[in-house]
Amino acid sequence: MGLPAFRRSRSQVRRARSHLAIEAPQLTKCPNCSKLTLPHRACAFCGFYKGRQVVAIKADILAKRETKRKKQEEKAKAKKK
Ligand SMILES: [Zn+2]
Repeated sequence: MGLPAFRRSRSQVRRARSHLAIEAPQLTKCPNCSKLTLPHRACAFCGFYKGRQVVAIKADILAKRETKRKKQEEKAKAKKK
């Protein structure tokens, strides 16, 4: 362990750094909702992969909860009457 024996030349440094740039991610169109998503991954917008739903969408879960709550509230009101 210690200091490097020689200073790296500008060209060595620049050649090494030529591989450090960040690339834009490859995007593919979702066959279900046709939005741009990452390949080989479930669609972030509709949760589809290989033509079927594999991941539940948070908005759907929240909407279902909301409808459940409303139904329960209606039941409670009906009981009070
Ligand atoms: Zn999709």
